[in-house]
Amino acid sequence: MSDEENIVDPSHPRYESLMIRKKVAEAGVKGMLADSAMIAHGRGEAFDYLLGEQTIPSAREATKEAAARLVRARKPVLSLNGNAIALAGQEFLTIASQLDCPVEINIFYRTPERMGALLGHLKMLNTKLGLDVEILGGVPDARIEGLEGPRGACQSNGIFEADTILVPLEDGDRCEALVAMGKEVLVIDLNPLSRSSRGGTVGIVDEVTRVAKNLIQMIPQKPQPTDWNNNQALQAALNHITTSMSDRFA
Ligand code: ATP
Ligand code: MG
Repeated sequence: MSDEENIVDPSHPRYESLMIRKKVAEAGVKGMLADSAMIAHGRGEAFDYLLGEQTIPSAREATKEAAARLVRARKPVLSLNGNAIALAGQEFLTIASQLDCPVEINIFYRTPERMGALLGHLKMLNTKLGLDVEILGGVPDARIEGLEGPRGACQSNGIFEADTILVPLEDGDRCEALVAMGKEVLVIDLNPLSRSSRGGTVGIVDEVTRVAKNLIQMIPQKPQPTDWNNNQALQAALNHITTSMSDRFA
């Protein structure tokens, strides 16, 4: 990345979004991400643009529901991929310490170098925040049933035994496999149409850094879980997009 590309002008109307993109670019330079990470991020950005780059009411409700289910869980875990760590690693460690649960690094394209870079980054943040959150994923000893290869690798005292898993930016296959194992799967994904959003127990259609900050506010309030209707919440997100689009040229 050139120095020119690195400078984001605070007066830009979409400053926040550009700053978030910059974090992904910088994590890429540090070897934390696969080459496809920026493409996945761009897909999210497109949906965020359509949502108005804000937490819409149905997403706030979904975040509250996820907070409630994480608080209720017997064995919760936060499953983190490269983009989630790059964008909100600090916030996820804070959430894990609020819940007294581990985080588990789980990446689509697993290489020792990327795992090392992500583990190192989280350890550095743990120290910086003065936290002692358990960071799993480095020594997988169990498998997510139905997933071949390194994508199915997980840790028995983390994802494998968890009853409730928060999965930001998850691939649809993995989300479906975790649901098939009987787990409650709380998804963060800006695309209300993705397989992850549709397949999870609760789909939060919002940008991962905004969700993480909202969870930090909501978890101490100990909200109560409800009979969550995921399809209804996803439809509300889609309606928000189409309504705001049709009003745009009025
Ligand atoms: P699926 O596999 O669930 O059908 P997909 O193949 O389109 O979805 P993946 O690349 O597997 O997508 O997963 C990445 C998902 O993360 C995308 O749906 C994208 O919208 C979403 N996403 C990307 N960046 C962010 C972000 N910053 N916050 C929230 N969601 C994001
Ligand atoms: Mg996918």
